[in-house]
Amino acid sequence: MSGAVVRRAILLAALLTLVPVAAGAEIRVVTTNPTLADLAHQVGGDRVRVESLMRGPENAHNVIPKPSFVVKLRKADLFVHLGLDAEPWLPSLVRSARRERLLPGGEGIVDVSSGVALLEVPSQNQLSRAMGDIHVYGNTHYALDPLNGIVIGHHLAAAFSRVDPAGAALYEEGAAELERGLRKLTESLQERMEPLRASNVVVYHRTWPYFLKRFSLKKLAEVEPKPGIAPGPRHIAGLAERMESSGVGLVIVETYSNRRIAERLAERAGGRVVVLAQEVKALPGVETYQSLFEHNVDALLAAWRDLGGNP
Ligand SMILES: [Zn+2]
Repeated sequence: MSGAVVRRAILLAALLTLVPVAAGAEIRVVTTNPTLADLAHQVGGDRVRVESLMRGPENAHNVIPKPSFVVKLRKADLFVHLGLDAEPWLPSLVRSARRERLLPGGEGIVDVSSGVALLEVPSQNQLSRAMGDIHVYGNTHYALDPLNGIVIGHHLAAAFSRVDPAGAALYEEGAAELERGLRKLTESLQERMEPLRASNVVVYHRTWPYFLKRFSLKKLAEVEPKPGIAPGPRHIAGLAERMESSGVGLVIVETYSNRRIAERLAERAGGRVVVLAQEVKALPGVETYQSLFEHNVDALLAAWRDLGGNP
């Protein structure tokens, strides 16, 4: 057992002696996606029961709420979401659930975006449908910077403590342990990514600015001409030319993106498509927030070596 685990076990034992956990003290948490569900589980441990509405591989912007979502929300103490316009399907879902505590401003709704330094925030005169229909408050994919996972972890600890004050010390320790682990992981992955430093890549959707920034990659262009808008043949042809002339080979796609379009582009430009996990559980084996970053770094390094990069 690591020191942190031992400390947490001792703390738990102490708390259990002082404050017996009343039956029903378990917090029922529903999250929009599996990334938030895993972070909630890591922070809350056995005191929280977490369920995600999304499965993982799907596009968070285009989820069609199912009747089962309402059933889950009816039993939830807390509903955790990414905020901004990350999940445009959320307001109508929350209205259908008819729970006052989950309505905007209610005590059970947890927006984990505050305190995150947002990227790609449009200026006032860019705010029009010409930008596409999503990301109008800034880029919503901030959870793909592992250090933003720390911010999310502290939001979760605060929310859990409000509902279950007896567990506050445990939740704080859970968030602190998450923070220590993520700082270490980020450093070691940054080191592994060093050979690719400042390399350009093409991305399908604007999912990756936080990830690229943290790992010192640059973006040449997007396959989508606007967020959420499919590319036409002329856009693809122009992009292939730009890739070739600038020697860019990696095309990063999400699990839900149009793989065929990306493959055609990579083929024309002599590059490689690399599928990254945009979410926990988006790909087999990506079961935790930490393994998402490990998987994505492994996949990028493998694709880059395939293209003749030096390991
Ligand atoms: Zn997006």
